[in-house]
Amino acid sequence: MPLKAYKYRIYPSDAQIVLFAKTFGCCRFVWNKMLEEKLQAYKKKERIPQDTPAKYKEEFPFLKEVDSFALCNVQLQLEKAFKDHFRNRKQFKLPKFKKKRDKQSYTTNNVHNSIRVDFEKSLLYLPKIREGVKIELHRRFDGKIKSVTVSRTNDGKYYAPILVETQNPRNKVVEPKSKSCGIDLGLEHFATVTNDLGSYKVEHPKYLHRGEERLRRLQRSFSRKQKDSKNRERARLRLARHHPYISNARNDFLRKLSKAIIDENQVVVVEDINVKGLLKTKLSKSISDSGWSKFLTYLKYKADWYGRTFIQVDRFFPSSKLCHRCGYKNDDLTLHDRTWCCPACGETHDRDVNASINLYYVGLGRPEVTPVERALVDDRSPNGLPKKPSRDEA
Ligand SMILES: [Zn+2]
Repeated sequence: MPLKAYKYRIYPSDAQIVLFAKTFGCCRFVWNKMLEEKLQAYKKKERIPQDTPAKYKEEFPFLKEVDSFALCNVQLQLEKAFKDHFRNRKQFKLPKFKKKRDKQSYTTNNVHNSIRVDFEKSLLYLPKIREGVKIELHRRFDGKIKSVTVSRTNDGKYYAPILVETQNPRNKVVEPKSKSCGIDLGLEHFATVTNDLGSYKVEHPKYLHRGEERLRRLQRSFSRKQKDSKNRERARLRLARHHPYISNARNDFLRKLSKAIIDENQVVVVEDINVKGLLKTKLSKSISDSGWSKFLTYLKYKADWYGRTFIQVDRFFPSSKLCHRCGYKNDDLTLHDRTWCCPACGETHDRDVNASINLYYVGLGRPEVTPVERALVDDRSPNGLPKKPSRDEA
């Protein structure tokens, strides 16, 4: 059954804050303890042990005081981290030891109604918290609760995303107005979009830009402060308070844009921008700020959610270099050329619009535009969704 996460803010009492802190601490303790043992075996090239947290409880009785599902989940998360690493060593580094300063959270599962929500009283019941935690239930959900992750941000707020099994998670599906949509992601504009209705450019949001300036200033001020000083702690708090503002605003922008695009189009085509490769170059700052990879993730799962097709073309597909009118390939095009004139048919192109039109054609399945690259382009798996590990990741 499909799962959906609902994120709520919670307001724990002083006693509950103490219990949460203990649970975070125990999870960190178990993580580090298990990691140490696994790493030792790993270094000696022995079989990596898969113990349960129960084995520590005799020696460290304080572990008995906290939610035992939270500790079990630590074991599962750690085992998954190792599994990922062995599957793909390049992409998944070995897990690291956790520090107190890291983001604090624990996940607990719903077993025999151990997690419940009272919508009338605005209370969340968790294992070891019989009286319930105050929760701001800004939206209702229907379905069975699978798990809850309690987390504390580093400016002291508490959140509890609730994972729910829902019968029909699909929100109302809108009839698409356009068959295909090509999206070119850029530095000058966040995106250039072409669909049946025409082309348009999406600007980088201005407020985000200002917020990011401030973020950079706060970061600089923080790193200038002397280690372990009061000023540094103050700067850290200022930074921590500003950070969620920026990421919330950015996520909001990305979510709304991806929803609008998914609503409007049946097939959505984007370039595989090879974010990881680009991040190593000079362009890195603006790319990480512009949130491209997050945007693609949103598009992917919303497409899945609303029954649309999402296609990511191979990054060798020359979307900017092809003349959308005659198919001529301009190999001399550089990153700095914002416009170019096709020597074959004489058409003048705006670089980004031209690229998005070529991607739009891919969505329409017009092979005559890209006779050679068509094979590369078709990255679709049989169910119409993108194949998971792309060529250059594998
Ligand atoms: Zn041309």
